[in-house]
Amino acid sequence: MKALLAIDYQNDFFNRELFFDKDKNMKFIERSVKKIKEFREKNGIIITTQDWHRKNDVEFHQWPEHCIKDTYGSELIPEVKEVLENYSNHIEIKKKRYSAFYGSDLDEIIKKNEISTFYVIGLVSNVCVLFTVEDIINRGMKAIVYEDLVLGSDEFLHKYSLIQMEKVLGAELTYA
Ligand SMILES: [Zn+2]
Repeated sequence: MKALLAIDYQNDFFNRELFFDKDKNMKFIERSVKKIKEFREKNGIIITTQDWHRKNDVEFHQWPEHCIKDTYGSELIPEVKEVLENYSNHIEIKKKRYSAFYGSDLDEIIKKNEISTFYVIGLVSNVCVLFTVEDIINRGMKAIVYEDLVLGSDEFLHKYSLIQMEKVLGAELTYA
């Protein structure tokens, strides 16, 4: 089974311009929504992840405070919420670390739905995307990453992580 994995499309990352420029990324959101819609039209499994932190999480030593659980900032962005409204094949994952597997029930979801291939979109390419792709591949599954549907925290690290995913981990890179 194939699944779309949409990583961390959350208000804090887009609206508060924590890592990204809002205007520049409106097009990114549009392209992402188009891809999500494509999967929905084929009745495919769509998994969204959300960074989900307690206040004073250790991760805030590395990054500014973001995505505190049960706040507006940690909610999915309205565009993604809208395209997934009332969709029964949408599965939500809350995660407290970079990898979507750490401390979540993603392994059970994969088993239950017999997922063997992930199409990956979202952010941050050099953080949560990279470490989630690593964990997908470590489990013997296939990861296909849309180069134009992942965003990095800076240009160098973005490019570096794409190379790492392709050359070191063996992920497949493609364009939407
Ligand atoms: Zn985080």
